[in-house]
Amino acid sequence: MATDELPLDPAHATETSPSSSVSARRRRTHDQVLAVLAEHGVVTRADLSRLTGLSRSAVGTAVASLLAEGLITEETTADSGTAGRGRRPTVIALRRRPGIVLALDFGHSHVTAAIATTTGRLLAESSTTLDVDSRPERALDAAATLAREILRTTDHTESEIVGIAAGIPGPLDIRTQVVRAPTILSEWIGLSPAEELGRRFGHPVSVANDADMGARGEHTFGAARTVDDFLYVKASHGIGAGLVLAGRTYPGSTGISGEIGHTRLQGATNLCRCGNRGCLETVVSITEVRDQLAHVLSSATEPATEPDALPPLAELAAQPAAARVITDAGRTIGMVLADLVNCLNPAAIILGGELSAAGAPLAAGVRESIDRYAQPASAQAVTVQTSRLQQRSELFGAVATAIQQSTT
Ligand SMILES: [Zn+2]
Repeated sequence: MATDELPLDPAHATETSPSSSVSARRRRTHDQVLAVLAEHGVVTRADLSRLTGLSRSAVGTAVASLLAEGLITEETTADSGTAGRGRRPTVIALRRRPGIVLALDFGHSHVTAAIATTTGRLLAESSTTLDVDSRPERALDAAATLAREILRTTDHTESEIVGIAAGIPGPLDIRTQVVRAPTILSEWIGLSPAEELGRRFGHPVSVANDADMGARGEHTFGAARTVDDFLYVKASHGIGAGLVLAGRTYPGSTGISGEIGHTRLQGATNLCRCGNRGCLETVVSITEVRDQLAHVLSSATEPATEPDALPPLAELAAQPAAARVITDAGRTIGMVLADLVNCLNPAAIILGGELSAAGAPLAAGVRESIDRYAQPASAQAVTVQTSRLQQRSELFGAVATAIQQSTT
């Protein structure tokens, strides 16, 4: 929404000298704050100060005034990803049409649907496991079914929905909104998820690649809230990166930037689903790492541990042998990221996806490789951490996108 479409404060038109200069300054401050909210959707007071260049106290005064005028809302977020990690952030947003947003997250083998307030507070979510890659129609139907179940069980209705967004685990051509890449997510080729979902919901649906959604989730609600140049890495069954440069998601010329999972590793020869050999994701996908962990842990167990029977990664990471495997996976990912650090000079790398549940040993491995292979000045400039929203970065990115879609 453009700032000039916002309702005007009638007081602005009636104030006269001697307070006119104060009034003009106040109006400029208000306009700055409203413009940032229109562009960024949901932000904290600290974000407002950083993005407008105004002092904290000037932001505080403007926020109090805009809250009193009913132009903005302020609410404490309640995402589970921040639970137990200190005070939950209070966020500010433009006052939107009353209603709720629907967020959909498609992984390679799961679909999650959630509803949230227009300030990003999660109200309910539900997931189901299915083969998303090879059964697109079923996955899209499942998302619609899940969403309707959530609405029913929470006493909400479809008519309350003011924005819908979805992340999909494949390359989406931003020019046409159609899945385009004959070697990845091949059953989805030629399909327009936005059109298909829009038909199922009777409402426009914003769709983006899942790693881009994850980056947006962390930028709006998570670990990247204070940085404008960072890489979000979704490391699950595939490995993809969402690039945020100068505060904006960088999609590339056609929307398929960040396919780092298909970077060739020296000496690796495994056949990849893309048809090449030695791609990053053939060595460190969640499936590969779980196989390696099962192999290592089987040496101490009888009968042998199956990958599907392993404890959660977060628990395994406490065991020295498992931590070595995870750190080694981090080193391998870090080798690819080191080149990107040289190229883009990001301030942060946020590790997300299923592999990020391993936590510190994964981040330590990535850090080691960046320190070893990136140029020292670029390596020093970048922090490495796991996602704050844990497995919900993509879902919260869809929440942020759906909020942006909703207009007054
Ligand atoms: Zn590949």
